[in-house]
Amino acid sequence: MPIERQTVKAHCGRCNAERNCYIRADGTNVEFLGGLRRDFNYRLMSCAGCDYIFCMCVITHPKEYGSFDDETGEFHSAGQEFIYFPGIVRQPRPEWLTRLTFFVGEDDNHDRLRSVLEQIYIALDNELHVLAAIGIRAAFEILVNIFGVDEQLTFPQKIDWLKSHKITVEEHVSPEPQLSPQERPVIHIKERGILGEQESEAFKTLVEVGNAAAHRGWEPGAEVLATLMKLLESTIYREMLEPFDQSWHYHDVDEYKSLIPRRALSRKRDTKARKSKTPPPEK
Ligand SMILES: [Zn+2]
Repeated sequence: MPIERQTVKAHCGRCNAERNCYIRADGTNVEFLGGLRRDFNYRLMSCAGCDYIFCMCVITHPKEYGSFDDETGEFHSAGQEFIYFPGIVRQPRPEWLTRLTFFVGEDDNHDRLRSVLEQIYIALDNELHVLAAIGIRAAFEILVNIFGVDEQLTFPQKIDWLKSHKITVEEHVSPEPQLSPQERPVIHIKERGILGEQESEAFKTLVEVGNAAAHRGWEPGAEVLATLMKLLESTIYREMLEPFDQSWHYHDVDEYKSLIPRRALSRKRDTKARKSKTPPPEK
């Protein structure tokens, strides 16, 4: 059977999982590196489940490429390697990423933060863990500058400052629907540090991971980096985007209020009301 009609397992970018996929077309480039042959088989694919079209490159390494297992003394050939276009998304982007500069701020630091975040996502998608760890530390450093911390302080001092520096937080705990979000009285104001106690300790670990990757050649695992990203993303969202979003949510709820059907009169009350009406005068 020609390869074009075969069904193979491949990673579907839309399902974000391995699926049965059809090979629609293919072609092979033969490359020689150091006198050894490698085949690059390019395939145009479609997912049998969702019809998503993508490209897949299957690289067949020469038999000579591989490694010896020290324990068994066996030789394992390098086998095949799979590359996808569009690439596999291992780290989903938060929906607010594009709003980081458009909505919140347009100074250099906001632009730099978004740019570094986008580079971290690319590094994580491609399993470049050392680069991602250094990037996560760099993103936190930019965030610290946005909060207005003295740049002369050491990193632990900066984190302690973020913990002790109090900010006031407005909470519309009892929104009045007839007023716009801007007109509503602020019912509750509370003071808190920019970072909480446990959060500060977590950020110190985040900085240490970045330092170990940059200076000691340590490669953290994907789970470690995913956890650090949750910490970084949740703090960025809470401090920079959530106040805007809350205000819009109130506004949206107000808009929908007019669509709610009114409660019908009960039948008993309705009949009573009809009986009490004066009959029309007879001619
Ligand atoms: Zn699919």
